[in-house]
Amino acid sequence: MKLQRLTDNIWYLPPDKSKDRPILGYIDGKYPLMVDAGNSEAHANMFIKQLKSNNLKYPERLIITHWHWDHVFGACKVNTETITTAKTGKKLQYLSGLQWSNNDIDNRVKSGEEIEFCKEYILREFPDNNRVIDIKHADRTFDNVFRGNTDKIEYSAETICCDHSDDSCIVIAEKEGVVFLGDSLYMNLHSPKWIYTENKLIPYLKRLLEYDVQYYIASHQPPLLKRDIECMLATTLCVSELINSIGHNRQLITDKLNSKHKDYSTIFAQDIIDGLINNHHLAVND
Ligand SMILES: [Zn+2]
Repeated sequence: MKLQRLTDNIWYLPPDKSKDRPILGYIDGKYPLMVDAGNSEAHANMFIKQLKSNNLKYPERLIITHWHWDHVFGACKVNTETITTAKTGKKLQYLSGLQWSNNDIDNRVKSGEEIEFCKEYILREFPDNNRVIDIKHADRTFDNVFRGNTDKIEYSAETICCDHSDDSCIVIAEKEGVVFLGDSLYMNLHSPKWIYTENKLIPYLKRLLEYDVQYYIASHQPPLLKRDIECMLATTLCVSELINSIGHNRQLITDKLNSKHKDYSTIFAQDIIDGLINNHHLAVND
């Protein structure tokens, strides 16, 4: 896996679906910033090695976008100041009190504290049952906004309300035209069914569109463009309206969406349909 250059001063290590490794970001300068720590020591080391081979400096700071294992397990191997939202800081303390044998993870899945999806990929990244997971605590936390500067590039980390995880932040480098989204664009996976809610997704997408940027980097796919986010918002509004008018039939909603807006049928359309319908089902069954 090779480090990619997105803009003059922004680089990223692409995601690896086979082990659920997210994108790791880098903003260059005298005091460089790393965004997310990776899902393991091996993942973090790969990133650091790639920095060296591109003659880029070791990160001065690390911002972690949310508490999920694939974004934080690498932090113990990144020897730099670690910054998170206050909520993520608390979640890291919780993680550091857990045990990680197959049995321990299984028990958490049974009790609903962990999800099958994470278990599957933790076992792929760490096949040995005697796996040792060190959790690094945050050195500094913030409640709303943290502002930083690499000396070349100003950036800010801002908490954001989204479906995926309620401790999330995004990292904005507006002058470079880039926002790192972490997983904030994705569904809530820690729910009986994977869901999107209109109440969170619509304001979230509208807020993303307020930034004067070109690229949106969601952690588990190639960088998105502003028009992708616009398309997601239009899809969400349309699907939400269809659910209210014709109910929960997935196929009918998919067909109507396709006939109304051919160009909406691509990015995230199926996830949006599934996530919003799942949420309506849960609400009905409550
Ligand atoms: Zn996540």
